[in-house]
Parts: sequence; C-alpha cells; structure tokens
Amino acid sequence: MDLKELYREVILDHNRSPRNFGTLQPADAEANGHNPLCGDRLHLTVRMEGERLADVRFQGQGCAISVASASLMSEAVKGKSRAEISGLYEQVHALLTGRLPADATDGRAALGKLAALAGVAEFPARVKCASLCWHTLEAALAQTRTPTSVSTE
Ligand code: ZN
Repeated sequence: MDLKELYREVILDHNRSPRNFGTLQPADAEANGHNPLCGDRLHLTVRMEGERLADVRFQGQGCAISVASASLMSEAVKGKSRAEISGLYEQVHALLTGRLPADATDGRAALGKLAALAGVAEFPARVKCASLCWHTLEAALAQTRTPTSVSTE
C-alpha cells in the first residue's frame, strides 16, 4: 500500500466511523461552523481544564473530507493547550494549502494522522471543508476566555 492509498484509507475510516462524535454535556463552550460552498455543518462542544482542552465532541453533516477532518482533529487536540492547538493548526493549514514541503518529515511526523489530509492540497475547493472544524474550534475556544456570566445591578 503506498502512502496515498494509506491516507485515503484513513480518511474513509474516519468518515465512516467518526471519533468523538456527539455532544458534551455539560460543556464549557460550543460553536457552530458552516461552509456554504459545500454545505458542511458542524456543531462543536468543548470542555476545558485550565488552559488545556480536556475534551471535545462534534456533530454535524457534511462531505467526507469535513467529517474526517473533524474526527482527526478531535483526536489530535485533546489534552493540548491553546498555544499547542494553534501551532498544530498552522501546520495543518500549511499541509492543506501545499505549503508544507514534501520533504518536511519533521513537520509531517508532528502531524501524526492529520497528515492523511495531505491529498486535500490537490483540491483547493476542499480546503475550506477540511479547515471548517479548526475555525469552529477556534470560535469555541475564544468563548472560554470570557467569563460565562456577568451580573451587575
Ligand atoms: Zn465539504
């Protein structure tokens, strides 16, 4: 099995049986994501432990790439700090847009299974499908920075 075929298998597997699918209750924050170009929709819930993302679940409907990407992301970001998550997204975005050099083995190793999204770079229209979950996660994490309730007389 060559690398391309292996990547395709990972995408198909995560699309068929998405990991961390569902809703956290209670959750510290939630966010909705929508990619109008393709019709992908995501609902994401997160639970924090200080600065770390303790748990994440997603629900939604979309194309194989959007579902597989959310599933792969959910496994990759658990237990990571905000800074680690944004660093990871930078790597993923470089991969999706073909800016991660093919010989950047260090970068790919750091991505783990997320490297399976490398094929998306050949289909620019699909980049938004694959990055939707990351933008949605960013929106959810942004909410956890602000106090959940403020009451003033
Ligand atoms: Zn899509």
